[in-house]
Amino acid sequence: TVREAGGDKIVSLSKATHKALNRKALIEKRLLQALDQKNLKVLYQPQIDVYSRKITAVEALVRWEDEVIGVVSPDELIPIAEETGLINNIGSFMLEKACEQVLTWKKAGLDLKVSINSSVREFRDKNMAQSILETLAKTGCPASLIQIEITEKFALEAEAATFITKQMRKLENEGISFILDDFGTGYGSFRYMQILPIDTLKIDKTFTSSLLKSEKTQKLMNGMVQLGKSMELKVVAEGVETAEQADLLISYGCDAIQGYYISKPIPAEEIEVLLVK
Ligand code: C2E
Ligand code: MG
Ligand code: MG
Ligand code: MG
Repeated sequence: TVREAGGDKIVSLSKATHKALNRKALIEKRLLQALDQKNLKVLYQPQIDVYSRKITAVEALVRWEDEVIGVVSPDELIPIAEETGLINNIGSFMLEKACEQVLTWKKAGLDLKVSINSSVREFRDKNMAQSILETLAKTGCPASLIQIEITEKFALEAEAATFITKQMRKLENEGISFILDDFGTGYGSFRYMQILPIDTLKIDKTFTSSLLKSEKTQKLMNGMVQLGKSMELKVVAEGVETAEQADLLISYGCDAIQGYYISKPIPAEEIEVLLVK
């Protein structure tokens, strides 16, 4: 049972709800500390460019193993971070790490772009674009090497809030490009592609996973690739796990392939090993 704020009424919660609330509070508390001590980790998942058959980009994905709670998956972590506002701290942490890493690679002669995932909540801060540019300046990372992945949920809100769109334009003008992630799963509006400065469509992995089993999915994915191309966007397929899926997607004209078939998300040092192979 918990006391409702401001009252004496005792609200009885189911055991499961109570447990979930406790876990959330614990995650929030531990996350705050982890951010403070920079105890989060970043893994990078490579993407293969279909034309050069080379790894030309990687996606930065957050990883957190807390000493008390254990591993907290991004699917659990990110929604809680969004709710509590700690997503802004995660975002800055990821950007700084990505900038430092891409610069290290550049110095080693490795030409790679890095994408980071952004939640719309981060862009509700009117200084978001400015603070991204400051991080680039501070680390010395060229803007052209950083890409920002946004979801359709992000796009929906950005469309309604001109100051978010403005910030995206400002970043685009500086050379940062935007990827529409999980394409096809969200609010499904093609308007975003007209209004927002999107450079790449990343087709969601749920489509890839049913690709070989469903002729409808094949037609749909082919159509999404053609749509992207006709809009002069780059098209990436994610969640590619087999050679058969890759072949089919390449035959549709996908520009890049990402998924376990290429590699799982791995530490930066292992990316270097993959590249020199
Ligand atoms: P996402 O951006 O769509 O990232 C792709 C997810 O699919 C990753 O899960 C990746 O590990 C997984 N994946 C990659 N290839 C395959 C494959 O071939 N098969 C399957 N089944 N899965 C594959 P992960 O790392 O658990 O992240 C889940 C989601 O959490 C991400 O989806 C993204 O929306 C969010 N996320 C992760 N890191 C961050 C971050 O730093 N900031 C924000 N805002 N969100 C993040
Ligand atoms: Mg992503
Ligand atoms: Mg995705
Ligand atoms: Mg996703």
